[in-house]
Amino acid sequence: MTIDEAVAHWVRPELRELIAYHVPEPDNRIKLDAMENPYTWPSELVEQWLARLREVPLNRYPDPAARLLAGRLREAMAIPDGAEILLGNGSDELIQMIALALAQPDRVILAPEPSFVMYRLIARFAGMACVTVPLNRDDFSLDMAAMRAAIERTQPAVVFLAYPNNPTGNLFAAEQVVEIIELTPGLVVVDEAYAPFAEASFLGELSRFENLLVMRTLSKLGLAGLRLGLLAGDPRWIGELNKVRLPYNINVLTQVSAEFALAHRSVFDDQTRQIREDREQLFICLQAMPALTVYPSRANFILLRVKEKGAKRVFTALKQAGVLIKNLHGTSPLLEDCLRVTVGRPEENRTFLAALSHALSDGE
Ligand SMILES: *Cc1c(COP(=O)(O)O)cnc(C)c1O
Repeated sequence: MTIDEAVAHWVRPELRELIAYHVPEPDNRIKLDAMENPYTWPSELVEQWLARLREVPLNRYPDPAARLLAGRLREAMAIPDGAEILLGNGSDELIQMIALALAQPDRVILAPEPSFVMYRLIARFAGMACVTVPLNRDDFSLDMAAMRAAIERTQPAVVFLAYPNNPTGNLFAAEQVVEIIELTPGLVVVDEAYAPFAEASFLGELSRFENLLVMRTLSKLGLAGLRLGLLAGDPRWIGELNKVRLPYNINVLTQVSAEFALAHRSVFDDQTRQIREDREQLFICLQAMPALTVYPSRANFILLRVKEKGAKRVFTALKQAGVLIKNLHGTSPLLEDCLRVTVGRPEENRTFLAALSHALSDGE
């Protein structure tokens, strides 16, 4: 057998037909494609953090339960007392743990479409079917008639709802999310990756619904490089999910750094407040541009549609001007000619706006 034959024989067919998740190489462009917080820490804070890191015993395994960090997270995110938490190497790993724990050939993961791509990808890895239900075309709200029918028909093991939704930026109506939780036979995971920008949460509803889990991450808050996510819910669910967690999934540098960062979280609170204000500013400027449709956002990014010029041309023109955003055209029938821009620093937003204005008015 040649190596090509061996790979074709042994690797699961549903994996071979996947295209590896593509992330563009970082360079010195203005980077507004990945919902990162554009701000770093004040230098005296960096010094204190480095002093903490110097004491870390890298020769030892980390605390498998990350107790210090878990306590700090509970406090910082106001996790209700009755809820248990599970930490993941980013919320991506938590999605994977949920899928691994529930996977069986006849079981379904349900999610609206368009939404976060990892729900679908991870369903694939785990050998589960992923059923998607298109959002309403005009405002990306939930199509409740279609959601009800899909839940009834597929009896999903888990429904993922990003709240606010990525890549559309809107917050689904809370009473509709509640209805989905009530109708779903399995779990409902409310993915609150953008909670710092939304100022809305289902954490307070955990005690009301036994099949609800709420997911958070530090990535969009300003610690994307650390990879730390959190899942909160009833101890009986979390206890089972914890069994598929690899013992030392949260490395010691992440544990110490995240704990340090959360002890100084006023820095992040100031940064996220600034980003929320700049989002409103950016929204107003975009709305004033005639050749595009702007969608309201409760996250740290804004979705736009450039129907006349076409997403590809605008994306390319921006890239040539040194501004990298995300081209969503082709990722969903609902996202024709759509682009997604992350809210950056004020000067980055201005450069983006100028380049966009130029790209839209360009005659050729
Ligand atoms: C970015 C994002 C995540 C990924 O979070 P990580 O903790 O970085 O893995 C999860 N859910 C949604 C909806 C996101 O947009």
